[in-house]
Amino acid sequence: MKTNIVIKSETDRIHEECGVFGMYSPSGMQVSHDIYDGLVALQHRGQESAGISVSDTSGPRGNLLTRKGMGLVSEVFGSEEIQALKGNIGVGHVRYSTTGGSTPENAQPIAMNYIKGSLALVHNGNIVNADEIKQTQMFRGQAHFTTSDSEVLAYEIISERVKSASIEDAVLKVAGKIKGGFACIIMSPRKLVGFRDPYGIKPLILGRKNDAYILASESAALQSVGGEIIRDIRPGEIIVITADGICSMDQLYGGEQAHCIFEYIYFARSDSVIDGIEVHDARFRAGQALARTSAAEADLVAGVPDSGLIAAEGYAYESGIPFALVFHKNSYIGRSFIKPTDSERENAVHMKLSILKSMVKGKRIVLIDDSIVRGTTMRQIIGILRRAGAKEVHVRISSPPFLYPCYYGTDVPNSRQLIASEHSTEEIRRNIGADSLEYLRIGDFTSMTGDLPLCTACFNGRYPV
Ligand code: AMP
Repeated sequence: MKTNIVIKSETDRIHEECGVFGMYSPSGMQVSHDIYDGLVALQHRGQESAGISVSDTSGPRGNLLTRKGMGLVSEVFGSEEIQALKGNIGVGHVRYSTTGGSTPENAQPIAMNYIKGSLALVHNGNIVNADEIKQTQMFRGQAHFTTSDSEVLAYEIISERVKSASIEDAVLKVAGKIKGGFACIIMSPRKLVGFRDPYGIKPLILGRKNDAYILASESAALQSVGGEIIRDIRPGEIIVITADGICSMDQLYGGEQAHCIFEYIYFARSDSVIDGIEVHDARFRAGQALARTSAAEADLVAGVPDSGLIAAEGYAYESGIPFALVFHKNSYIGRSFIKPTDSERENAVHMKLSILKSMVKGKRIVLIDDSIVRGTTMRQIIGILRRAGAKEVHVRISSPPFLYPCYYGTDVPNSRQLIASEHSTEEIRRNIGADSLEYLRIGDFTSMTGDLPLCTACFNGRYPV
């Protein structure tokens, strides 16, 4: 493990905080409906664009059908479009970016034709050495116009594929060259190949539904299509799904794991199980740990919807202070976090949350959220509570101060915008207008995820890659 400062470049500026889903039915069942449902279940991982590629394994080689576009899964696909995507093998993607790289070209799957056939690629995460790989492509005379690290990856796989006996051989060679946090699924017309970075930073899980195999970012997506979990893809594992079944290659695994703690803190759906740990339980236990280390005299415990609710329940359970739902959330409004300016983010918080005044008037409140990034959300919410007559607001955050940017695809602003990297806890307390402010301690991650080896770089700057 090394601590380093990574210089961000053009290619990795487009962050991929995404959800991936792949499915193969050897018996010929059409997969597009399930891919659609799986993507809807992964919608929290990306709301900017969505796409699906399918192929019919009994059809002519290279016959991929792709549809993708900007917006939510339900905005990109109607039932006719899904019906038209005929095939028994396919991949799907939802994408999220906050950095203005929001263009249709960046939507996935990336579907490409090449001399030996075609492939479609979906990718979650960030390849930190994509620029290096792009340069080697240029030295080889393969200068491609690429707008993302995912495209660089797709070109590299194609370049190896023409020299390799199979798509999995090509993926093995390329996966050995790339660095970062990533979970990918590649569909050749007759195979599904999934792989996960050697540290297991990004999640990827294997499941099945009847005779079909499924790969997905989260188990909640398996559940939503009526499938069942087989197991997590191991860090560094490449898994190949064909008509003959499953074959696994473990060559990339380097022996050190670093699973992203932010999946458990915020990113994943609370009904998912990632690397054997139930996300809901991890959040609840974080709230319990906070109650033990950061007690407050209060009348009720409230959570910021939705991200702070489970930790708030954990805090309430452990402290004995009653839990109360004090906000009504309008679920039809997108995430405030992704709005480009502070004032837009502030307005979005007001539109999204309204307060149940009678619950808070005259009360001392413990308010829980999963994280403070820029501080915008918390400042707004405390303002709303104060205007509704709250007597005291004691903020408890179910993660440590967010100090360092993430280079593996969890999109956070640069250090200058991370309030905790520029200000002390006392300054932040004053800035957000809280009566007290305390965070979960890094040492308490074990209460959340036991002895699972973690990537906690955003909290301590120790980047595994
Ligand atoms: P901020 O308002 O910038 O302090 O952001 C904190 C809020 O954004 C919290 O309510 C978090 O649940 C949420 N949040 C934290 N990290 C992310 C992320 N990577 N993407 C989207 N939302 C996030």
